[in-house]
Amino acid sequence: MMFYSYWLIICLAYIVTVHSFSTTHRYSRHHGATSSTNTIIPSWSRRHGHLASLPPTLETLVTDTLDSDRKIVVVTGGVLSGIGKGVTASSIGVLFRAMGYRVTAIKIDPYLNVDAGTMSPFEHGEVFVLDDGGETDLDLGNYERFLSVSLTRDSNLSTGKIYQSVIERERVGDYLGKTVQVVPHVSDAIQEWILRVAGRPVSRFSRTSSANDEKPPEVCIVELGGTLGDIESMPFVEALRQLQENLGYKNLCFCHVSLVPTMGSPPEQKTKPTQHSVKQMMSMGLRPDFLCCRGSLPLEDGTVSKLSMFTSVPKGAVLSLHDVSNIYRVPLMMIEQNLHSMLLQRLRMGPFQKGINYSVAGQTDISDSVVIRDWKKLADSVDEPESECVIAVVGKYIDQGDASFTAILPRNLLTLSDFVSDLCLQAKALTHAAMATKQRLRIEWIEASSLVPNNDDGQNSNTTSWARLEQCDGCVVPGGFGARGMEGKIATIKFCRETGKPFLGICLGMQAAVIEYCRNVLGIENAHSAEFESNLVKDEEDAVVFMPEGDRTRMGGTMRLGARETILKDGSTARRLYGKEKVMERHRHRYEVNPALVPRLEEAGLQFVGRNTDASGERMEVIELSEAAHPYFVAAQFHPEFTSRPELPNPLFLGLLQTCRASIASKIA
Ligand code: GLN
Repeated sequence: MMFYSYWLIICLAYIVTVHSFSTTHRYSRHHGATSSTNTIIPSWSRRHGHLASLPPTLETLVTDTLDSDRKIVVVTGGVLSGIGKGVTASSIGVLFRAMGYRVTAIKIDPYLNVDAGTMSPFEHGEVFVLDDGGETDLDLGNYERFLSVSLTRDSNLSTGKIYQSVIERERVGDYLGKTVQVVPHVSDAIQEWILRVAGRPVSRFSRTSSANDEKPPEVCIVELGGTLGDIESMPFVEALRQLQENLGYKNLCFCHVSLVPTMGSPPEQKTKPTQHSVKQMMSMGLRPDFLCCRGSLPLEDGTVSKLSMFTSVPKGAVLSLHDVSNIYRVPLMMIEQNLHSMLLQRLRMGPFQKGINYSVAGQTDISDSVVIRDWKKLADSVDEPESECVIAVVGKYIDQGDASFTAILPRNLLTLSDFVSDLCLQAKALTHAAMATKQRLRIEWIEASSLVPNNDDGQNSNTTSWARLEQCDGCVVPGGFGARGMEGKIATIKFCRETGKPFLGICLGMQAAVIEYCRNVLGIENAHSAEFESNLVKDEEDAVVFMPEGDRTRMGGTMRLGARETILKDGSTARRLYGKEKVMERHRHRYEVNPALVPRLEEAGLQFVGRNTDASGERMEVIELSEAAHPYFVAAQFHPEFTSRPELPNPLFLGLLQTCRASIASKIA
């Protein structure tokens, strides 16, 4: 008897400790304290000895994930692509961030390309570049901006990458004579990849230094690209199914983003597409824990009940992610529907280790956390601007490869919903700066080749395009590849330089600015870039040259990519805007300004205020005209748009929008 009471006391003490640990655990987060691991509740897999059958590497990774109590949230999509899966996934990350958790993210792209670097922007949208030079899907940009972290190339997983790694292992004999198959070899490799990246510390975002690594993440958001049911995504779906088995139900959950269209007269919310996509999901062995329903209007009660009945997702977990005025409202909309508390319950985190009760509303109030308060401010600043600013982005928008080209906007902008309208990177960076300067941004997308006569498209120069350009408050000439539109960009820059229109040039935009200066100020008529003209007189006409370390035959991953340091000259506009001498910015280029022409250009007034010292010599990074000569004429070889954050706009974009605002104000006065 004594013996049993003794054990009873020990067990009770144990439970109390666990409970109080979990409570302090939650509150300590908001005060910046770190959490410890929780190995107290054994996982399903461990209880059932399931892990023993896994290959050793996967077993180690699963065990490490369980020991660290790391949770995985998988976001899948149904019905159609482009409905805002990326923003939904990033917003879920914001909820965890607001609750004090360390969050990382993985985007799975089921295409066969190894990375997005070789893909046409017209096919796939633009390419995003990470600090480590990884060329990835734009969604990684969303994660970086929403989670305020710097991710690595491994955070973007494609079929190409997985197969490449499996085939490499097969070639060195790692599979010991076995027939290498999609299941288990590819599915195991996918699980290993996810768990490895999920456990890798992510760096806090910093523009001025290589940020220090922190502790491993506690939550990993995994977004499965495409739509469930696509042939390409099958191995990933199977891997995710197995991963839930291996980690146990309480460590991995599924959020399914689907469409609930409103149709007919009287208008009615249609649940059938979502019902079908959930059926498809279940037929593949995945069961949605949360339904994120996209649509133009809030879900009606009847729609929620119907969806819940047909999909077996509890009513509280059927979320209405309807159109809102701007994307910063998405996390706020999720909090209103208590998604953050439900996620904690579903994943047995913090105080919710014991079970699920979605009906108890408002257990965790995070609306007062710093992250959410900042987020509210951002959302309001978009909705309540004090003035309007019109920026021309002079680029290349028509896909010449497509015979029936109707697109006059970047592909992503054709689908104008609140969730996806903002996808173009220039637009995002400009929006962040507009928010910070309390302006409503209107972008005039101007086709560069329409600005010059007898241009490479064989069209006449378009007077409407010039009129649109003239009416803008400022102008951006973005980066790009290929000769088409180059003369239009050069003409735009000449116009901006001569009329004092605020101008920001990016990468090819900076190269075009140097060519323009060589031609029209130095009088080197044939000045051009070696990218577009092969017979240029050396160190005279070749204003832009091929970089010595480049590779002309292999296209994938051979550019100068990723974060490099730029040293800014004292007294320059760029230095004033950054407020620092040394800055880290991301690159993606093969050509550079010819250093041999720099002294002549400087003598003629073009200032080279940002430089970088690479192994192969000095690189020109930032040019500008003095503030006395022009209100704002700045161009950079790097891409400032990659490091623009809603809470921390990129200084070069901010400078442009500040100058525009000041000149609008002076015109009004
Ligand atoms: N095509 C130019 C180069 O490779 C510019 C590239 C860019 O704008 N990203 O250098």
